[in-house]
Amino acid sequence: MLSLNDRVAVAVSGGKDSLTLLKILVKLGKRFPQSQVVAVTVDEGIEGYRDEAIRIAEKSCGELGVRQIVLSFKRLYGIGLDELVEQKKDLTPCSYCGVLRRRALEKAAEAAGSTKIAVAHNLDDEAQTFLLNLFHGDVTKISRAEAVLIDPQGQFLPRIKPMREVPEKEIALYAYLSGIQLQTTPCPYAATALRNDIRAMLDRMEERHPGTKCTILRSAERVREGMKKSLKAIDLHRCDLCGEPTASRVCEVCRMLQSTTNY
Ligand code: SF4
Repeated sequence: MLSLNDRVAVAVSGGKDSLTLLKILVKLGKRFPQSQVVAVTVDEGIEGYRDEAIRIAEKSCGELGVRQIVLSFKRLYGIGLDELVEQKKDLTPCSYCGVLRRRALEKAAEAAGSTKIAVAHNLDDEAQTFLLNLFHGDVTKISRAEAVLIDPQGQFLPRIKPMREVPEKEIALYAYLSGIQLQTTPCPYAATALRNDIRAMLDRMEERHPGTKCTILRSAERVREGMKKSLKAIDLHRCDLCGEPTASRVCEVCRMLQSTTNY
């Protein structure tokens, strides 16, 4: 996943997973003086939730001596998530959030001169995401959920998921034992997400059939391998509206933001 001289942008939300990943990568990075770690934090504009997370992230970055770049939806898109979901109701808040955050992370990591983006997805996230994509029949997302995602056309930074095989409970335990400050407030939109129900279902199954989440991760890998033989590479070109790389005429970000104020 990593080379000796990588400049890694760690996506730090301020939650236990991302702060754990940051702490571990900083620790590892000390053994490789040519490498660099920077924290990138996206402020989606979720009142009463993201503010606390950003405060925790800033404090942790200060303690670890890591440079942090914060980029807000408001600055990048002219609108925060709270405002956006007030204006547009066709998708769930998490659908907007996921797409807009991916672009924001990419932009912040580019600004930091990074060579890779590391995200703190854990085993639970990976199993949930595979089932979610299966429910939606989203073959593209299933094929792109790899441990190391490299864009063959080099338009996006490589994205790595170093903790994808680690159960969420173990990360929580590590965070607790290493004194990482944990966020207490849940995102107000989390309850609206289908992911929540899938999480509850998988937790029940893991309890009754230990190893379920790991089995799903391995199944996803087998499915992905099988798909590689039949899926054509996506041809990227520039979005008609913003000029960012996309597979369609207008990118997903612009489609989501069209008809909102300030866009
Ligand atoms: Fe964004 Fe949904 Fe996560 Fe809240 S729960 S931060 S809206 S993805």
